[in-house]
Amino acid sequence: MKYISTRGHAGHPSFCDILLGGLAPDGGLYLPESYPQVADRLAAWRELSYSELAFEILSLYITDIPAADLEAICDKTYTAQTYRWSRDAGKARDIVPLTSLEPDFHLLELSNGPTLAFKDMAMQLLGNLFEYVLDKRGETINILGATSGDTGSAAEYAMRGKHNVRVFMLSPEGKMSAFQRAQMYSLQDENIFNIAVRGMFDDAQDIVKAVSNDAEFKAKYKIGAVNSINWARVAAQIVYYFKGYFEATQSCAEEVVFCVPSGNFGNICAGHIARMMGLPIARLVLATNENDVLDEFFRTGIYRPRATTETYVTSSPSMDISKASNFERFIFDLVGRDPAIVRQLWRQVDAGGSFSLADGPFAARLPDYGFVSGCSSHADRLATIRDVWARYGLMIDTHTADGVKVAREHRVAGLPMIVLETAQAVKFAETIREALDREPVRPKELEGIEDLPQRVEVVDAALDQVKDIIVLHC
Ligand SMILES: *Cc1c(COP(=O)(O)O)cnc(C)c1O
Repeated sequence: MKYISTRGHAGHPSFCDILLGGLAPDGGLYLPESYPQVADRLAAWRELSYSELAFEILSLYITDIPAADLEAICDKTYTAQTYRWSRDAGKARDIVPLTSLEPDFHLLELSNGPTLAFKDMAMQLLGNLFEYVLDKRGETINILGATSGDTGSAAEYAMRGKHNVRVFMLSPEGKMSAFQRAQMYSLQDENIFNIAVRGMFDDAQDIVKAVSNDAEFKAKYKIGAVNSINWARVAAQIVYYFKGYFEATQSCAEEVVFCVPSGNFGNICAGHIARMMGLPIARLVLATNENDVLDEFFRTGIYRPRATTETYVTSSPSMDISKASNFERFIFDLVGRDPAIVRQLWRQVDAGGSFSLADGPFAARLPDYGFVSGCSSHADRLATIRDVWARYGLMIDTHTADGVKVAREHRVAGLPMIVLETAQAVKFAETIREALDREPVRPKELEGIEDLPQRVEVVDAALDQVKDIIVLHC
């Protein structure tokens, strides 16, 4: 399999060539040259374990790692030990257990990994892929990122203890929950460096951008990233759409609907690709919070990224985005994979503008891709968390609540609805207390992590101070 850029750059790299990088040289995002068609293999795949299924699917996209090695990487990644925080400990072997609220209304638990959010599903694979490829090449990488919570902790737990990888993770001092801080800062691994920046998330993000724009420093210190545009993360996420489909159906003649709490469009982009490969997905329901950039597009055909000052801080913070960094991948498919059109649309976006597909030929094609959407507010989240607790005795997190709220508005009679559960309630305890007036359940092993010794350096929001830390530790 070769890869192409959404903006047309014609390098035709293979998987390992793009694994450690970010954007394509022309500023586009990588996608496979074509989507392998697998409808006639579904029946055979139904009986596979998660790691076997991951191997089957990933080997279609990763053709430059020997099959036996890729199989070993999948086996090592998707274990019941790593994804052990299931509601029902007996189901940990499923890796992504399905919990039924009602007949034909299910949660697919994607948040049973080490940091209790779905980002572990892909990031754990990335950790093992990075280690494998860097070992083969005798190279090292220094991952630099900024986080307001879920991404940074998932990256650290995926990369801890890995050879040839260091992680420098910036976070805004005092802005994350005590639990999130404890998750990250209690790591004692020598290759993990937590840097708390006196400032806001955007200040931390600006420092990361400034380092990335310093080509000389970047090359000398082998700076890399693991952000959500990384193709390997999207590829890893395709697997659980298949697994969820098999869990919710009896035969491969049936169709299902998925509902996905969305921010950067990474998770649901994997669902789109699963559908393009031939998985019988009737609809993809996209749920947003108050930051409704994507809901607006699917309702009106207008994509209007917001200014960061127009971005709301909400109680489902991992969906607080001003623009959706993976959205360009879907638009590339929608416009018939014509990079000239994508270049033209993103010339407008990159200049701070918007675009409309409402009146052109593409609006008519949109329904072929199965998307519908809706949004949710803080009041909706509270009401949904209360309702799911009262009705089914299940505690759900704020992002999953956005999904359940919107899913209820888009059920299709006779078809199973599968809501992706993207985090566990304990990560967002404040809102759980507000909704239910009780403490969220937390896995036994994580009791008291707030009291463990923490390892973090505090710096001003100054580029030089962050660079000094990197130089010191390399
Ligand atoms: C990252 C995240 C999301 C949004 O996923 P995207 O791939 O950015 O659309 C939703 N919920 C949780 C808990 C997350 O961490």
